[in-house]
Amino acid sequence: MIDIALNISVLKQRIPLSVRIVAVSKTKPVSDILIAYNTGHRIFGENRVQELLSKNDKLPSDIEWHLIGHLQSNKVRFLVPFINMIESVDSARLLSVIDHEAEKAGRIINCLLQFHIAKEETKFGFNLKEVYQLLDSPDFKRMNHVNLCGVMGMATFTDNMEQVREEFKFLRGCHSALKEKYFREENQFREISMGMSGDYSVAVEEGSTIVRIGSLIFGERLTKLT
Ligand SMILES: *Cc1c(COP(=O)(O)O)cnc(C)c1O
Repeated sequence: MIDIALNISVLKQRIPLSVRIVAVSKTKPVSDILIAYNTGHRIFGENRVQELLSKNDKLPSDIEWHLIGHLQSNKVRFLVPFINMIESVDSARLLSVIDHEAEKAGRIINCLLQFHIAKEETKFGFNLKEVYQLLDSPDFKRMNHVNLCGVMGMATFTDNMEQVREEFKFLRGCHSALKEKYFREENQFREISMGMSGDYSVAVEEGSTIVRIGSLIFGERLTKLT
């Protein structure tokens, strides 16, 4: 038996209060999310838009939803009315669509820039040079409806924790470089979203401010989704 409430309380004892926990509920039923919600937890993450929309309809409106998976531009408008943070911004075009839809909806959307930090080819994300190009572009300077809050990354799926640590150090370095060059005066650019069930303790040691944790809270997923 999986005890979701106990799992959350154990995690909260292990993770410093300054680090926020996104409870990653992908593939899990609304009833599981409610168990977590009833412990007082409010931040949940999903990686698929359709699933997020259907869960949002059935759950209390004070949940803070984070999108953590690849987002197609044509789905942005469904999220914009209620999403709390889009962690997986992985292209300039996507950011500009978010800005545009947010303007129409009269909102400002919190976003993280997803970096490609893993050795695997398949993971989405920017490199530092691409982000410099984006932030230097006239296009970006016109975006008034996105609030860039920091960076996000997924380490390589491996047992080699030294490699994972290097990848997290690299992401933290990207955050510092951007902070220094573009966001010195902007307090909101402070988030480093890194660390999952298998590597969150290393991530926290390396300066994570947001960890995204699924299986340690809700149990293993039957369907393997990344
Ligand atoms: C599924 C997922 C997680 C959580 O994974 P666990 O290993 O179950 O903690 C975190 N981040 C992203 C982007 C994910 O897709």
